[in-house]
Amino acid sequence: MIRSALFFGVCLFFATPCFAGLCTTSGGKTTISATILGSTSFDPNASPYVDPSTLTNTVPTNSTVSIQGAYNIAPSFFQTQLCNLDGIYFDPKDCTNGDGNNCTVSNATPAGDSWGYREHPSQKPNGPFHRYLGLSAAFWPQGNTPQILSAYENTLMQLLINWPSTDVYQPGGGNPPVNLQPSFGNATPDNANMTILAALAHEYGHILWYDTFRPTPGGAYDFKSFCRGAFYTDTWISVNPPPSWRTFGESDGEPIAYGNPKYDTKVGDLALSLLGGHYAKAQNKLHNMYRTEAHWASLFGAFSPDEDFVEMFVLNVLLNANTPLTSLPLNLYDRTQNPPKLGTPDDIAADYAAGKKPELGRRIACFPH
Ligand SMILES: [Zn+2]
Repeated sequence: MIRSALFFGVCLFFATPCFAGLCTTSGGKTTISATILGSTSFDPNASPYVDPSTLTNTVPTNSTVSIQGAYNIAPSFFQTQLCNLDGIYFDPKDCTNGDGNNCTVSNATPAGDSWGYREHPSQKPNGPFHRYLGLSAAFWPQGNTPQILSAYENTLMQLLINWPSTDVYQPGGGNPPVNLQPSFGNATPDNANMTILAALAHEYGHILWYDTFRPTPGGAYDFKSFCRGAFYTDTWISVNPPPSWRTFGESDGEPIAYGNPKYDTKVGDLALSLLGGHYAKAQNKLHNMYRTEAHWASLFGAFSPDEDFVEMFVLNVLLNANTPLTSLPLNLYDRTQNPPKLGTPDDIAADYAAGKKPELGRRIACFPH
């Protein structure tokens, strides 16, 4: 045991390649490996279950289909977590041509078709219980590089709440309408590696949720140990175990403090306002999640207690990246003005950097740095 611990610790000094899970270190450089799922019909939720490592998988030949760039900018604790996974896959489900190396997608839902899970006794009664993560090949449509972070966050927001494009201000006089949809402006830093880093962290966060709150696969839940039981304090009325598969965009649970600026939001109300075309109301509800007083990591985090944990982990990873995230402004129009004008953006990362998010900081501090 001691020998293997030492070996792991001095990995970088060996002249020969050193392997740690998915990672190989040689000459001080670490390479992380990922493969394309050989089957477009792979479904981690299928019954009977098929372990993806038993399928014929291929290593990506398209250099753009890569997670190495995201790995390189990841904080060291997350690099270690990624290396210790049992597999990282590119899921070609969204590729209309079925080719994960050169994915043609018509309607990209990269976040919706990505996944992360720890195998469960119902899949494999005797284990071992592997940890797998899959990113949709739609992150690399037509072999292109992924969207930069701000563009990806806009895609994600649209996938989650589908803000209608009919939300426009019509100036009249033959002038073109002004689109009033909320949108993220340029992040700092704003690049494709940050997008993949965020996506990896999100899917990893789901695995971490189980490792944290259900340490034994199929065993009892324990909400008292992590962060001295304080992670969910003041946030949710109750924290129930999520379904085996948390479907993208599915909401669950009630925040405690409705009416309190810290957690004053319900995604169901936001969705209802949008459905009714009450855009000003909907925008207010979105603002409640992103304003300085709020304690959410993101809109997605307000969907359910597990997504709350996952998105807090994502933010923690981005805030501790090689070049940390210091700004991701959400632009909202002041609709009391005529014509509506852009107000001061809501910016969780900038507020955090300025020390204005003590409660968010407390929750983020629950995770490794
Ligand atoms: Zn999720």
